[in-house]
Amino acid sequence: MRQSRLFLNTLRENPADADVVSHQLMIRAGYMRQLTAGVYSLLPLGYRVLSKIENIVRREMDAAGAQEVLLPAVQPEELWLQSGRRADYGNLMFSLKDRHDRPMVLGPTHEEVITSLIQNEIRSYRQLPVTLYQIQTKFRDEARPRAGLLRGREFRMKDAYSFDSSPEGLDESYHAMYDAYCRIFERMGVDYRAVDADPGAIGGKGGSHEFMVLSDAGEDTIAACTACTYAANVEKASAQPLPVADTSATPAKETVPTPNTKTIDDLVDVLDVRPEQIFKVVVYMADGQPVAACVRGDHEVNEVKLKNFLDVRQLELATADQVLKATGHPVGFVGPDTGLPIVFDPGVLSVADGVAASKDTGFHDIHVAPHRDFKVTKTADIRVVANGDLCPECGQPLAFHRGIEVGHVFKLGTKYSTPFHAAYLDENGKEQTILMGCYGLGTTRVLPAVIEQCHDDAGIVWPIAVAPYQVHIVPVSVRDEMQMKAAESLYHRFYAAGVEVLLDDRDERPGVKFADADLIGIPVRVTVGKRISDGDVELKLRKTGDVEVLSVEKAFEAVLGIVK
Ligand SMILES: [Zn+2]
Repeated sequence: MRQSRLFLNTLRENPADADVVSHQLMIRAGYMRQLTAGVYSLLPLGYRVLSKIENIVRREMDAAGAQEVLLPAVQPEELWLQSGRRADYGNLMFSLKDRHDRPMVLGPTHEEVITSLIQNEIRSYRQLPVTLYQIQTKFRDEARPRAGLLRGREFRMKDAYSFDSSPEGLDESYHAMYDAYCRIFERMGVDYRAVDADPGAIGGKGGSHEFMVLSDAGEDTIAACTACTYAANVEKASAQPLPVADTSATPAKETVPTPNTKTIDDLVDVLDVRPEQIFKVVVYMADGQPVAACVRGDHEVNEVKLKNFLDVRQLELATADQVLKATGHPVGFVGPDTGLPIVFDPGVLSVADGVAASKDTGFHDIHVAPHRDFKVTKTADIRVVANGDLCPECGQPLAFHRGIEVGHVFKLGTKYSTPFHAAYLDENGKEQTILMGCYGLGTTRVLPAVIEQCHDDAGIVWPIAVAPYQVHIVPVSVRDEMQMKAAESLYHRFYAAGVEVLLDDRDERPGVKFADADLIGIPVRVTVGKRISDGDVELKLRKTGDVEVLSVEKAFEAVLGIVK
């Protein structure tokens, strides 16, 4: 490609509304433009990168035995009522009416569509297993689209669905996809982790992993062991249980006045205690009913774990009014003994000499021992892991990372096949429900995720596998006949050798050309300048900045070596 003909405008300034690096760089380097909030046009360089990402995904899906299909984006809403997910998605779904006034939606995902397809097509165990995938545009009307393609309202995704006749078969299909994902991210050249995850809105209790590209721009936090391979989303992560305290020497309970103590910090000040001595009670509304959760004062309730433990559809923090109505106490004065159903995190048992809200508002009890001074009936791991926690597998310290979720694999089991009656006849002619898995990978999210990991102050630094072009030839002066002749000759030779090459044939100052080259981030640059009179060119690697002066012939060979 000749840069003089390339549809590309680079910008000097960061766009005012972009606060993450990948968003800034994709606009500045001319990879994309915004149409409206969370909706973008990909320009030639951006679309080339996306195509490369999708081709890597496609090759690995095919190699894993999955078959490509294309499902419709426009879906009848009734499919979503049948699965029971219409309410879960709420305003996140773009909904519309067709000309006959029938409610339709733009698909945010395709479990409903594929399960209804399978229900019609699969009859016998002989047709199983099968894994189908597509790469397609999805729609989610995010309340707060942010960070460019990292959270857009229209995006592309690879989604695969497996159908099996046995739990062992589902395990195999799941592992085939898991392994394919590892190969995909390795081939792309990014630093990623596969982490144990909460299945969330998609559902299914059999197992789930998220694939995270490590980056401070990520919205997710990962707890990963510093010694072994344990890694989990904080929504799911657990820690080694804290040792249970010996309360045999705890002094007798005393009640002390604590007016105006609304928070843990207030109590720490007034009573001169440590946060970890306090029994913190938080009141929630679980499907409309008040429920309390008790954790140590230095810990936070993990609402995902609590919701899963209670097995409810909706869990919300109770309002001040709801707390007062349910417990008779204002927020800050709810103790473990208020008559509400209560779940204790086992961490509370590590407190030997604690503090809890008293039966009377305006007072706290000190020298409180669990079991002795209040009943600990129901315990469950309901807290967020914290700094200082130890790995549940090996006991070494956990470390925390930010990550961008780029893939998610789930064992769905019969969550969708049951409501859609997706069944097959087994060897004995008996009807059985099909077991499903689903496997998503956000291809338009991978693009900025790679940039978050691969950039420097001057611009993007593409890994070669997903770069829009592999080599950038930059003649310093297009008015210099010798330089242009050498540049053109190299351009044609690279082209003939199957190397993806961009030739900067613009009549611009060298500073402008070099700044643009660094900004758009092609991995290898061949600069043709004055040294061409000695038959030499400069070979520069974008990633390291290393420059080598080589003969034209040696440079050509070196580039072939890097590319292949
Ligand atoms: Zn470990």
